[in-house]
Order: sequence, then structure tokens, then C-alpha cells
Amino acid sequence: MQKAAWLGTAFTPAVKNEKLTGMSEHTHHLSDRLSAIAPSATLAVTARAAQLRAAGEPVIGFGAGEPDFPTPDYIVRAAQEACADPANHKYTAGAGLAQLREAIAEKTLRDSGYEVDPDSIVVTNGGKQAVFQAFHALLNPGDEAILPTPYWTSYSEIINLTGARTVKVFAGADQDYKVSVDQLEAARTPATKVLLFCSPSNPTGAVYTREEVREIGQWCLEHGVWVITDEIYEHLLYDGAEPAHIVAEVPELADQAIVLNGVAKTYAMTGWRVGWMIGPKPVITLAKNFQSHLCSNVCNVAQQAALAAVSGPLDAVMEMREAFDRRRQRMVEILTPIEGLEVPRPQGAFYVYADCRALLGREVAGQVCQTSQQLASVLLDEAKVAVVPGEAFGPSGYIRLSYALGDDDLVTGCERIADVLNRAS
Ligand code: GLU
Repeated sequence: MQKAAWLGTAFTPAVKNEKLTGMSEHTHHLSDRLSAIAPSATLAVTARAAQLRAAGEPVIGFGAGEPDFPTPDYIVRAAQEACADPANHKYTAGAGLAQLREAIAEKTLRDSGYEVDPDSIVVTNGGKQAVFQAFHALLNPGDEAILPTPYWTSYSEIINLTGARTVKVFAGADQDYKVSVDQLEAARTPATKVLLFCSPSNPTGAVYTREEVREIGQWCLEHGVWVITDEIYEHLLYDGAEPAHIVAEVPELADQAIVLNGVAKTYAMTGWRVGWMIGPKPVITLAKNFQSHLCSNVCNVAQQAALAAVSGPLDAVMEMREAFDRRRQRMVEILTPIEGLEVPRPQGAFYVYADCRALLGREVAGQVCQTSQQLASVLLDEAKVAVVPGEAFGPSGYIRLSYALGDDDLVTGCERIADVLNRAS
């Protein structure tokens, strides 16, 4: 019996409409749609690591991707000032503060190279809400959404909620975790409505070249397939990887593209919850209407902080990028020699996605692990490190490690992993 069997709960829908204790015959049947959702595995791993640390266990967390740096001072100061301004104590426009939407349009021109009308932007409560609203604005039951796999865990749960079908297109380590146009074409049917595109990628750290981005954009254009492009890791590129924005590469795609972004990863602002979506007006109208019922407006103080972030310089992210790059190299260096682990060198974001299939079926620390979920449990118990198993992102046989943590912890954690896995027999 594994001590860390807790991890299984992160892959299981919450309720399954069983009769709940204390509820009457008439009230025990809860929503089928919400009961089908499994909790976010990335957040579950992180919460479990924090719980163990609080209980005195020396756990090192490679779980949720979250910069370990504080939010830059000038952004925090803008929020402090905003707190004192009574204008921010009231409801504001549901789509977001006008000044912030203008700044996002300017930032898009600066970083992505194309013009956007501020009225085509909705500010959301974190990038995650933008993902939710984008899929819900496009999909109906019976539609198909193509999801390059491995994929970030929330995409598939959100698509499921729309009632549409997810078509998973897998690209393994042998193709740098990048899907080809041929694979997309093989997956296309008359029901194909949208492609999710994420480069730099969470969870794999893969970065598509400009040419690959252009080819995929042209394929979407040619076949009338919408693209939802998640650009939240746009500034985290290494080894000379070039930034490439699908709407800049294929400008005609703007009428069938929704661009998602936010301040969380660029400015170490995960807790502030400010993201945005850019899209054609009809899509934006649907998203605004929906959001007006969901949350009215995003917290004004957080929006003012985001305004200081997006209208300011990129110096802080460049400094963080340097630290992430150093940690990335260190992590790859320590993990690569481990027998049974294949560690492609990621070029973006802050994740290493290691292929551990060769370790499955072997004995690790006295246990035979048949899945990466079991391997992650053993690593938590024996190495005291928290990693996210591949099951959260698609097939079993992989583990994701975030390198957005301090250098010393990173080295200690990777060495502990090496120590346990090198004894596999
Ligand atoms: N996006 C980050 C991750 O994948 C943060 C946690 C989450 O929202 O999933 O780890």
C-alpha cells in the first residue's frame, strides 16, 4: 500500500452523484456537469507538498509552475496607491478598465507586432478564466476541439464542460513534443471547430519555430478552424528560440483566433489573478456578457497593478528569465544521466517534461511502478519531492518538473530524484 495514494484523487471526478450524507432524497443528486470534473492536478500536487512541509516533512516542490520571485516593487506600489483611491472601491466596466485594455493593446503591438482594438479585449480573473471563456464562446456539443498532447490539465476539463469532444493529438519526446500539420490534418473531421495552441508549451516547455507556427496558422486558415492561442509564457524563451505569435505570422487568422495571455508568469503575479483574451468582436461580446454574470469586474486593485506591469519595462522578466535559464540547465544536467529517464531540453516556459516509460514495470524503492502516477507517489514518499505525473497532461509515462524554484532546492531535489531512481532494478 503506497503512503501517497492521495494523488489518485487528483484524477478522479469529485462526487459521481453518489448519495451524500446528510442530504435528503430530493437534494442529493448534484450537477452532472460539475460532478464530472477532476480537481486540478497541478494545484493538488502543490497543495499536498505544502501540507507535508507544514507537517515538518522536508518536501521540495516541482509542482505548480509559479515563479518564486516576489512581484516587482513598482507594481506592488501601484496596487498600494490604487487601494487608497475610492474610484477603485466601486464596480467598474465588466470588460476591464479602459486604461488597462489600452495598455494591453499597446503591449500586444510592442511584443507581438500587430494592432488590436482595445474593444476586442476582455480582462479576466487570471488566464484560466480567459481559457474558460474562449472555449465556451466557441464550442457546442457535437463540435470537436483538437488538443495537442501532452496538454495543460485545465484545457481538457474546460473543453469537457462545453459538451464538445476533445480530439487528442499526441506528440512525444521523439518529435520534441510538437505536433505536425500532417497529424492535425489526420485528426480533422467536418466537426473540427478549434485548435488549442500553446507555445512555449505548458507542460512540455516545447517551442514551435516561426515556420512551424506559420504552417499551423495557415492550416487553420485554410480549413476554417479557429485557434485559441495561449501565449502566457511568451517571454520565457531560451537557447536562442525565437518568439512567434500565430496571428502575427498569419494576419488573416485574426478573425478566427482568440489570443490568451496574462501577467502571472511574466511579472511573478500568479496570485493577483489578471489575464485577458483578445478576439473578434462577436466572441468578445459573448465573453463580456458571460463575465457580467460571473464576476462583474476583475478586482480593480489587481487591474491597476497589471496596468503598471504591462505598461512598464520588461527588465524584471529578463532577470527572472536568466535565473530560469540557469536552473533549466542545471536540472537537465542532473536528470539526464539517470538511466530510464529521457530528458528533452526544453526551450521555453519553466518546465522539464521527462519521459519515464523505461522505468515503468521496474522496482523503485521496493515498489513496482506501473504508471507515472505511482512513480510520482514513490518520489514523494522516498525522495520527498513533488512532481506532477503525466496522467495530468495526457498519457502515463511522463513526469513534469517546474524549475521556477530556488537554485539550492532545485539541486537538492534533483539529486534526491537521481538517488532514488538510480537504484531502480
Ligand atoms: N499553470 C501553472 C501550472 O501548470 C499553475 C497551476 C495551474 O493553474 O495549473 O502549474
